[in-house]
Amino acid sequence: MKEKVLIDYESAQKRFREHVETMKQKFSDVFFESIVIDTEDNLYIDVVKISKDKPNTLVFTIGEHGVEGIFGSYIMEVFIEEILPILNLKDTSVILVHPINPYGMKYLERTNKNNVDLNRNFLNSWDNIFRNDAYLALKDFFERSEGVQSLSIERIRYYKDVLKILLKGLAKQVKNALLVGQYESPKGLYYGGRGYEKETIFMMRLFEEALKSSKHVVHIDIHTGYGPKDTMSVVNSNLFEEDSKTFEREIDYSPVVKSENNEFYAMSGDMINYLYTLKNEKYKETKLYSASFEFGILGNSTLNEAEALFRAVVNNRLRFYGSKNEKIRKSVKKLYLEAFCPTSEISVQKMQTQFKKAIFGIFKREGLI
Ligand SMILES: [Zn+2]
Repeated sequence: MKEKVLIDYESAQKRFREHVETMKQKFSDVFFESIVIDTEDNLYIDVVKISKDKPNTLVFTIGEHGVEGIFGSYIMEVFIEEILPILNLKDTSVILVHPINPYGMKYLERTNKNNVDLNRNFLNSWDNIFRNDAYLALKDFFERSEGVQSLSIERIRYYKDVLKILLKGLAKQVKNALLVGQYESPKGLYYGGRGYEKETIFMMRLFEEALKSSKHVVHIDIHTGYGPKDTMSVVNSNLFEEDSKTFEREIDYSPVVKSENNEFYAMSGDMINYLYTLKNEKYKETKLYSASFEFGILGNSTLNEAEALFRAVVNNRLRFYGSKNEKIRKSVKKLYLEAFCPTSEISVQKMQTQFKKAIFGIFKREGLI
């Protein structure tokens, strides 16, 4: 099991392409294309389209945050093997994207080559971008410009700062200031960029095509990291009309939360809200359901979240300022990956079962099965 989950980008790409071959034998209309991100570095967004131009289009995406694509790729495999066969393909076109951010998946980063968090890059407009003053006020805490020392030294320093923040009762404000995204500090965390990234433009076109060519679009985007440990949360957009409790009853699955600070966290420039806004502005007739599935890895207590942030902070410094030695580099990368990918078989099994239950409930509600 662990061997199937903790694999590198190249192996995941190979596994996905093998599935494409099998799909070509099973289904009549299968189109495969690889979008070049970097040929020398073997970075491609692989896209499969099954049975075009049907009234429903299902879009299934992974790895918008590259490092999350490691577990995402495994979930994609579960989807292909166990969900795809029960879909009503007579009325449904299927689009699989593996992964949105190949650079991040290969180098185990959340962001792309330009350090852009793609899920803060889908702004509907670049005029009047908000200035994240709360982030800038804490910039020295988030991004100190020096190489990584031994992890024990880093940990002590970091937790001293965290303690100060906790004592001031500012944990929630810090979290919200960070997670919403920022557009001022290109070497910082949750940086949303200065314009659309290549990967973003590609996804925007794909979504536009889907909204244009079908009556009903269902989109599921796989993320890992946040939320209760070993628990898959369905994260609905704050633009989605239904409240979370009603939705839980409809799909017979919980937890369901909304992307707002009361239930989960708010974001600027996220992909799902972009899609809802595009639909509302240009494709009013098309029905849309788009959500992310978030697989919780470290847990959601304040201490768990502080630990996740510690790993993000040291990983970011490693990227820009290096480390004292190779051993430290490796342990930082390992810690970082393990904040986004479950390592125990029980966790994997549990979340795989939850994934199937939630997706079944949603597809039933949406009339795809
Ligand atoms: Zn994510």
